[in-house]
Amino acid sequence: MKMQKAREQIVAYGNRMIADRLTLGTSGNLSIYDPAEGLMAISPSGVAYADTKPEDIVIMDLDGNIVEGDKKPSSEHELHSVFYRNKKDVCAVVHAHSMYCTTLACMGKPLQSVHYALAEALTDTIPMVPYYTYGTQALADGVAEAIKGSESRGVLLANHGMIACSETMQSAYGLALTMEWCAEVEWRALAAGGMNVLTAEQMAEVMEKYKTYGQVREDGSRPRGYNG
Ligand SMILES: [Zn+2]
Repeated sequence: MKMQKAREQIVAYGNRMIADRLTLGTSGNLSIYDPAEGLMAISPSGVAYADTKPEDIVIMDLDGNIVEGDKKPSSEHELHSVFYRNKKDVCAVVHAHSMYCTTLACMGKPLQSVHYALAEALTDTIPMVPYYTYGTQALADGVAEAIKGSESRGVLLANHGMIACSETMQSAYGLALTMEWCAEVEWRALAAGGMNVLTAEQMAEVMEKYKTYGQVREDGSRPRGYNG
């Protein structure tokens, strides 16, 4: 089978999404991209994470063709492809309907730098994509438009959910957790009467410090923040 390690990671992180309460039921989806092969491994559509096996993961090219797998791929496969086509170093995407990111997305409130931890997303404001029906080309096009010229590793989808992307599944998943935590802080601050937002300069300083944060891992990568 192609992309065996990616298949196993998608199964493992899918189970973590449920354990961490990052998404509900079969909502959300995960993918990993192999730039050398031009192939993406993506979770199947409508299969519970606990029931998903490595052989259920679908291997696709970025034009939407299934290369390996007999399950129907995630309905959002086009949305995942957008990141791999447009962000050169991105090799993993996490999409979830996490409670607080989705709450802000339903309020039409952008996820802002109310806490410095958001620097993990390499931005001080997470772009918000207008509402489009799930699983459509229009939604994928809306995401492509929102990330054009933006360094942000995260996106909110109005009245839908959130997306985090990064070089590895470990750091994309970590960013999803960080975005969700920041969204909860922002929502609580808004509910309690308001919030102080850090400036672009203050956030740029944190992003610079994050370049040398933590320990270098065996594979040469570094954590990008608390979770990544
Ligand atoms: Zn969704």
